[in-house]
Amino acid sequence: MALFRGQTFTGIVVSRKNYKERDMLVRILTSSFGFKTFFVRGVRKRGFKWGAGIIPFTKATYIGDISTTGLSFITNVSDAEQYQNIVEDITLNAYATYILELSRVAVGDDDQLAIKWYATIEQALFLINQGLDPLIITSVIELQMLQLFGVQPELKHCVICQQNDRPMDFSEEYGGLLCQRHWQLDPNRLHLTPRTVLFMQRLAAVNLHKVSAIRVRPKTKADLHHALDQIYYDMVGIYIPAKRFLSKLMRTHIRPLAPRTKNNTTD
Ligand SMILES: [Zn+2]
Repeated sequence: MALFRGQTFTGIVVSRKNYKERDMLVRILTSSFGFKTFFVRGVRKRGFKWGAGIIPFTKATYIGDISTTGLSFITNVSDAEQYQNIVEDITLNAYATYILELSRVAVGDDDQLAIKWYATIEQALFLINQGLDPLIITSVIELQMLQLFGVQPELKHCVICQQNDRPMDFSEEYGGLLCQRHWQLDPNRLHLTPRTVLFMQRLAAVNLHKVSAIRVRPKTKADLHHALDQIYYDMVGIYIPAKRFLSKLMRTHIRPLAPRTKNNTTD
C-alpha cells in the first residue's frame, strides 16, 4: 500500500458515514485518484473547519494524503461548492445518486478509468443541477457507460443489413438495432418507438460538455427509461439499488407503458 502525501485534487463528495464517536468516513470521487474513502477526524467536534467540504454533492479542491488501497486523509479543503438544487430536490438527488452509484460499479477498482470519466460525471451533475432533464442526462450516462460493462450495442444501423433507412427497434438478442425489414427475427425486441430509437442514437453519441438544452416528449422519456432498464437488467446483468426509487418516480409521474408484446411504432 502506497501513500502519496500532500496531493492537490478536485473531488465530488459521494457519501459519508459516521465512524466512532466524532469521526467520519467520506467517500469522494476525485479527479486524480478515482473513488477514495477519506478518514476525517473530529467532524462532530465543535470548531471543525471543513464542514462544507464533506457534505454529499459538494465539489471542492482538496489537499490530502492518498492511499492506493486503504483510507486516505484530507489536510485542507478550499472552494467548496454545493450542487444546491440536487441537495434540495429529492428527484434530482435520486438521479444524481444513481449516476454516482452506477459510475462506481462501472469503473470498479480501476482508478484510471474513474479518472478518465471524472469530467463526464461532473458535467452530468452540473447539468442536472442547472435544470436540464435529469432522466435524459442519466440516460446519456447509462448509454455511454454500457461499454464499461463490455456491452457495445450497435446503434448506428441495422445489425443485419447495415441500413438506416427504415424505422428501427432495439433487439437484445441481436445486440443492437434491427430495421423494420428484420423485425420478424426477434419477437422480443423492445418495441420502442422510432423516435425513442433516434434519441438513443443521439444520446449515445452526445458530448455532455456541448449540451445546453434537450427537449424530449414524456412518452419518449418513459420509453427510454424502460429500454435502458431492460438493457441493464438483461445485457449488463446489474441492478443498482438507487434505480428502484427512480422507477417509482417514473410510475408516479409518467403514464405507464403499453405492454411489451404490443407493437408500438407511433409516438
Ligand atoms: Zn435490416
